[in-house]
Amino acid sequence: MSAAAPLHHETTKRQQLAHLTTQLDELRAKGTYFKLRVLDDEQGPICRYDGREVINLASNNYLGLCDHPKLREAAIAATTKYGVGSGAVRTIAGTMKIHMELEEKIAAFKGVEACVVFQSGFTANAGTVSSILGKEDFILSDELNHASIIDGARLSRAKIKVFRHKDVAHAEELLKEVQNEPGRKLVITDGVFSMDGDIGPVKELCDLCDRYGAIMMVDDAHASGVLGRNGRGSVDHFGCTQRVDVQVGTLSKAIGALGGYVCGSRDLIDYLHHRARPFLFSTSHPPSVAASCMAAFDILENEPERIGRLWVNTKYFQAQLAGAGFDIGGKSTPKSETPITPIIVGDGRQTMEFSKALFEQGVMATGIAFPTVPEGKARVRCIMTSEHMQSQIDTALEVLTSTAKRMGIL
Ligand SMILES: *Cc1c(COP(=O)(O)O)cnc(C)c1O
Repeated sequence: MSAAAPLHHETTKRQQLAHLTTQLDELRAKGTYFKLRVLDDEQGPICRYDGREVINLASNNYLGLCDHPKLREAAIAATTKYGVGSGAVRTIAGTMKIHMELEEKIAAFKGVEACVVFQSGFTANAGTVSSILGKEDFILSDELNHASIIDGARLSRAKIKVFRHKDVAHAEELLKEVQNEPGRKLVITDGVFSMDGDIGPVKELCDLCDRYGAIMMVDDAHASGVLGRNGRGSVDHFGCTQRVDVQVGTLSKAIGALGGYVCGSRDLIDYLHHRARPFLFSTSHPPSVAASCMAAFDILENEPERIGRLWVNTKYFQAQLAGAGFDIGGKSTPKSETPITPIIVGDGRQTMEFSKALFEQGVMATGIAFPTVPEGKARVRCIMTSEHMQSQIDTALEVLTSTAKRMGIL
């Protein structure tokens, strides 16, 4: 038996991408260069990254659905029955019955006419914002809105006006400036802001849109499964379902699998079928993903106690952190109102060192620095889940406190 000749990997000295190396070197010099942490088992309150067992405060697995037995079973059953791939984009031949069932389920859950699922929350936002507006139109966007909204806005070629974070008066000023222009106006906010955990002023922005005839859009990625009745999101939380034209949610965070969706009128959804580029040009979900998501919505309906536990854990964790003297927002940064809990450190390098030291002590909490958050506002971001036990939270708090004291952060 002759072994195949090993592939020969040559390290070439091509200079075409040297500018990337330069930029990486700059990150290394600033102390904000990072390596990906690799999960050895499954997402959970305790799991193993890079061979080390840690209390996991870093995931978006709010309700523990990433590894819930019912989602697993649904995925396996769908794979057995329908295979692993859909084989085409939705508009050609890749719309399976299970995709339609999921969309109907989400629309009914959210109390809207219709829903379309995208491959991710990112593509849902980017594909929607870019397709419903054109270059004569205007987008009014909160300065801390998610990157996928910003990219969608740029792709639409509409004129972008950025209002100060949650500043409805500023949004109104900007709307006034353009109210006599012929283009349409879209106001867009995150329901929950992903770096600070504060809640967008959905109701006040709805009022504004009503007064100025603007389109209202909310990105509820971090609110899906977390806020509102049975996790229906921030729009439901504020009782604004009938006043928000475009509701985006994610299936990748609390829902535990992968995907994004847009909810709204039948015509909005029909239009997106014809014009949203990720829908038209990228293959639909494997049947297992749709099946898992359906099981997740059943759990939201039938096990609301998960959401209850999430909030109990969140209140406890945040009260203990504040009591220990940590800056968890509310001073120079917005105050968290959700399980997203930033521990503001300030300096990027120190934040990354803090995160690394925590990891070595058995706590996984990711350091986040510029450009993801503003310069000088670097933080270690912690996210509670319903599945953390009190003893795990207490251990994490001890490690956070002792490590912060040792490093001069507390
Ligand atoms: C995570 C996130 C998204 C993207 O969702 P994915 O499903 O992970 O692509 C969009 N918007 C906000 C506010 C997010 O936090």
